[in-house]
Amino acid sequence: MPRILELKGVNSFYGNIQALYDIDMHIDRGEIITLIGANGAGKTTTLMTVCGVVQARTGEVIFQDEPITRINPEKLVARGVCQVPEGRLIFPELTVQENLDMGAFLRNDREGIRRDIDMCFGLFPILSARRRQQGGTLSGGEQQMLAIARALMAKPKLLLLDEPSMGLAPLVVRQIFEIVQKVNEEHNTTIFLVEQNANLALKIGHRGYVMENGRIVLTDTCDKLLANEQVKKAYLGL
Ligand code: ATP
Repeated sequence: MPRILELKGVNSFYGNIQALYDIDMHIDRGEIITLIGANGAGKTTTLMTVCGVVQARTGEVIFQDEPITRINPEKLVARGVCQVPEGRLIFPELTVQENLDMGAFLRNDREGIRRDIDMCFGLFPILSARRRQQGGTLSGGEQQMLAIARALMAKPKLLLLDEPSMGLAPLVVRQIFEIVQKVNEEHNTTIFLVEQNANLALKIGHRGYVMENGRIVLTDTCDKLLANEQVKKAYLGL
């Protein structure tokens, strides 16, 4: 399968503090990649480095065979790299419908936008029922759904999801993960999933990476990671 994203020897910093050390990773088109690790391991920084919010000081980020290491997030959205940040960050004052419209801000194909809004309502029927409600009045799970749907409105080729399960009830988390899988399978979207809920994330991912203290310490298929003694002890609570 052709490679969609590659990180080669990436080192990222916050000021003088180094957060990522020599990160090598790749994602093939059509995959769900899971990145797991403890609090502060560097997972969010890895996503931020891919979507251009943090720029790698050294090393390279390559998307569809072109370097994107120094490209700003807005240009990356136009190329098909979209992030759903941790904490969701929808527009609380805008309605569900308006939030979705915002996700399409770089597009001007009105028919396509309307079709994609319908596609989002198909994936998340609850959002359709709440389309005229302000985003801030939705439950946490609904806001997470809206954040994902809004990102889908930009027609991403690569969707970056930062801890979609955070603070949500297990049943809602399962629903969201099922939809993530559907987006991957039916909408041809490659997914880079960062999660602390290692158990669920490894169940929907194809391959995974384990991060500790800013370094990738282990990578394998998700099946093998789920069976790995070290992963079981450190991340699956077994
Ligand atoms: P979490 O699950 O808590 O989000 P994480 O694995 O995503 O953890 P990062 O948020 O990437 O980890 O943090 C990696 C390291 O970088 C941590 O040591 C953190 O304290 C540091 N860090 C993160 N953001 C900043 C910042 N804006 N300024 C300075 N240091 C930061």
